[in-house]
Amino acid sequence: MKTINLINVTTGIILGAIGFLFAISSLYEKKLRAFYTAIAFAAIILIVWFGYYHFLNFSVILLSIPPAFAILAVVLFFAPDGKISEIEISGSGDRVDERDVMFAREEYEPGDSKYDIYYSAKPQFKEIDDKIRKLPRLLSPGGKYYDPIRSGYIISIFRSVKNLLNEVDGEISADRQAVDAAEVTVSIKKAILEMGAGDVGIARLNQNYVYSHVGRGPEKWGSEIVNSHKYAVIFTLEMDYYHVEGAPGLFMTEESAARYLQGALISVEIARYIRNLGYPARAHISGSNYQIMLPPVAYDAGLGELGRLGYNISPRLGARVRLGAVTTDLPLIADKPKNFGVQDFCRKCLKCAVNCPSDAIPYGDKTDERGVLKWQLNIEKCIRYWRILGTDCGLCMKVCPYSHPPTLFHNIIRKAIPRSATARWISIHGDDIFYGRKAKF
Ligand code: SF4
Ligand code: SF4
Repeated sequence: MKTINLINVTTGIILGAIGFLFAISSLYEKKLRAFYTAIAFAAIILIVWFGYYHFLNFSVILLSIPPAFAILAVVLFFAPDGKISEIEISGSGDRVDERDVMFAREEYEPGDSKYDIYYSAKPQFKEIDDKIRKLPRLLSPGGKYYDPIRSGYIISIFRSVKNLLNEVDGEISADRQAVDAAEVTVSIKKAILEMGAGDVGIARLNQNYVYSHVGRGPEKWGSEIVNSHKYAVIFTLEMDYYHVEGAPGLFMTEESAARYLQGALISVEIARYIRNLGYPARAHISGSNYQIMLPPVAYDAGLGELGRLGYNISPRLGARVRLGAVTTDLPLIADKPKNFGVQDFCRKCLKCAVNCPSDAIPYGDKTDERGVLKWQLNIEKCIRYWRILGTDCGLCMKVCPYSHPPTLFHNIIRKAIPRSATARWISIHGDDIFYGRKAKF
């Protein structure tokens, strides 16, 4: 009897303490709903637990039920149960033409030759693109969140990115250094992390992920893109949690712009460093200078899975990341894709779809998009909404349960989700209870 009393009291105290610690952690995240819910949870646990113990303190069997239930829940939360789904890639699709990318299409203006050439070849996009073009451009007067001072600051960051467009490639040193692939891989990864990246990986460059034709940037529009580099060095940049919490609006766009500039500086530096070793290397920077599609390359490098919201979800930083990359022929050691339960989580969660104000994120099943089975974002609806706001939206990134900051509690949940369907079920429903199903903005 003494032992069961001790177990009962100890488990009650542990559960109550977990509730209070989670409440404190929620305060740090500035999540008041989660704070009050955690306090209520801890109080209810303590009242029920010790009330039960006090009034029914007569049977070992009855007293064993609450701790047994708690222990079973913990075991189910962490115990491996079944395989997680992987992203299905048949690789049978054509390469994507960068001229079809929404950000390229936004640049075609009536009266210029690109507009005439593009829409006579792709008339199916003309009507919707013309409607989008009638709305104010991002960061321009007329957008809902336009602010001449702050918008001007963001525009100046994008200008700095643009100034790097001609720095992405350059002369290769004739004095080629003999390198050890393992050593140089470590050295490049270390340099990128020291420059502020969140994570870094190496992928063998799959030619299916190289755009077919130039759609933006200083190179000739419509020219064929040839990039036969063997590897892509790719990295994530963490989007600041509190900036993302400010979505939708200028906070979000400020953060995106700052990360794009940081990504551009890192990739230009790394590409230059590799060329100085005597190997070809090209940086791929934001705005108008990508030759490769970063999300699938990031997946190949083990940096994250594509989620329902259309972004890569990183194992450590969730959806709050931007990507940067360098392609090269420098001998490197490639990483492998990491699957950590995102496909199974997204199938049930749907929180981004519920919160998307433009209805751009699908509720239904994945579709085959050029040989990759994925949830296809309706990019026209998304960008149309951005232009109404005059800024990035980012609500999907903000509400995604993977976007929580890497605190002890969220990290424990991140560890459990890839292993256990119970953990995924509890996390999806727990997220709604503690943080709300619908975001307020
Ligand atoms: S909000 Fe949910 S469904 Fe959407 S990407 Fe994040 S985990 Fe997946
Ligand atoms: S950025 Fe906004 S509009 Fe676009 S998909 Fe996400 S939630 Fe929807």
